[in-house]
Amino acid sequence: MVKLAEWQGKSVFRKYGVPLPRGEVARSAEEAETLVRSGAVPLPCVVKAQVLAGGRGKGGAVRFASTAEEARAAAAAILALEFKGEKVREVLLEEKLAIVRELYVSMTLDRTQRMPLLISSARGGVEIESVADAEIDRQTVDPFPGLTSYEKRRVAKVLGLSGPLVRSLDRLLDSLWNVFQHEDAELVEINPLAVVGDGLVALDAKVIIEDDASFRHPEYAEVRDDRTELEEIAREKEIAFVQLDGNIGVIANGAGLTMATLDVLKELGGAPGVFLDLGGTDDPKKVTEAFLLMARAKPASVFLNIFGGVTRCDTVAKGLVEAMRQVPSDERFPLIARIRGNNEKEGTEILRAAGVTSVPDLRASAQAAVDAARSKP
Ligand code: ADP
Ligand code: MG
Repeated sequence: MVKLAEWQGKSVFRKYGVPLPRGEVARSAEEAETLVRSGAVPLPCVVKAQVLAGGRGKGGAVRFASTAEEARAAAAAILALEFKGEKVREVLLEEKLAIVRELYVSMTLDRTQRMPLLISSARGGVEIESVADAEIDRQTVDPFPGLTSYEKRRVAKVLGLSGPLVRSLDRLLDSLWNVFQHEDAELVEINPLAVVGDGLVALDAKVIIEDDASFRHPEYAEVRDDRTELEEIAREKEIAFVQLDGNIGVIANGAGLTMATLDVLKELGGAPGVFLDLGGTDDPKKVTEAFLLMARAKPASVFLNIFGGVTRCDTVAKGLVEAMRQVPSDERFPLIARIRGNNEKEGTEILRAAGVTSVPDLRASAQAAVDAARSKP
């Protein structure tokens, strides 16, 4: 998923004519001060951490400054933060606008209705998850006619806007729709959309580009996202690899079996720490690479749950045994295997010869993985 930082989202907004505060990005406190002194950022200003997590306002990652010295100090303080596990590397400095009201609008995809969804609320500036359902309006937008004036009028009503603000909203929603369509976004969110004087301004920007459309958008290839270092390596090798908070590693094949395996471990009191979906591959080279990557994540134990359908159990087992030999001794971990299906007998034999037993029962094998992780310091 390509998640854009606020300043990146805003530069996309700018191209589509969404009204924004004047602002510049700084990567050091000195740079922040210079931007203010040179007049590139007017005073008073706002200094905002450029991280992907939300809730910066509440979390001390958005500060106000009325002098260049204050802007410098605010930037220094924010650049020293680790916000929700993310190091702050950039700050956005923006003119501070006099907000009359804070509103909410977003455009996303409704997967059940298979339609773009326009969401609006008069309660902006707070996380939308905390707003009562009755105060949130949702309407699907048919992509063929596109956003209609009828739909836009409804948003104006929900937001309680009248007069010139309705015209401002009209233009803004057209821009929002264009961003959503032309950039292949899966989410475009403005929270807050602020009433400033008799116009509307986007004070925040959250843009997520649909992964499946990334081939159409080479311009986003370099965008930093929230993948870990190992996830980044996995991506280059085209291995589905995701790190979580727990300590048990999961190697499975197919999204369904992988998710079910995580569920069983959780149900038994275990905490999955990383999962790896081999998908349809039984290419021993690929299996080896995946396994070595798993080792680098340093799991307390690894639960290997393979179903041999198209994949053959014996070739997967061969790859594994080969990989196990290559794992450095300080990265070794207890391995619990469950390998079933096509060529199960041969696969089990290969594993057994290498000292790994395959436990056919799902619950029993998952329990063994949980116990092994627990007994490890
Ligand atoms: P987050 O959503 O991460 O909390 P926001 O960008 O929404 O961060 O900023 C939080 C709050 O800070 C906003 O709700 C708004 O009240 C205030 N704010 C942000 N940018 C500006 C600005 N340019 N001028 C005035 N107030 C701002
Ligand atoms: Mg916000």
